[in-house]
Amino acid sequence: MDIHQVRKIYGMLAVVALFMVGGAPMIGRMTSKTVFWYMICGGIAMALLAVFYAWKKYRCPYCGEILRAREPMPDFCPNCGARLK
Ligand SMILES: [Zn+2]
Repeated sequence: MDIHQVRKIYGMLAVVALFMVGGAPMIGRMTSKTVFWYMICGGIAMALLAVFYAWKKYRCPYCGEILRAREPMPDFCPNCGARLK
């Protein structure tokens, strides 16, 4: 799988995680404390999954260097200088 796709999936997981944790207080108020904690736990689990996924897959395809997923995608690998686009 190419890293553009990996980055997209990582971004999606991160957005879902943020949405769950961010939306938990509001949804919790409308429903119950149990739902609130489910959303917090689910959000944290999603965030961990995103980080794990990025750590496993978001690497330079040539040398395996881990790319920083929080920063915009670099054109060249910071380690070996290979073109990533
Ligand atoms: Zn590299």
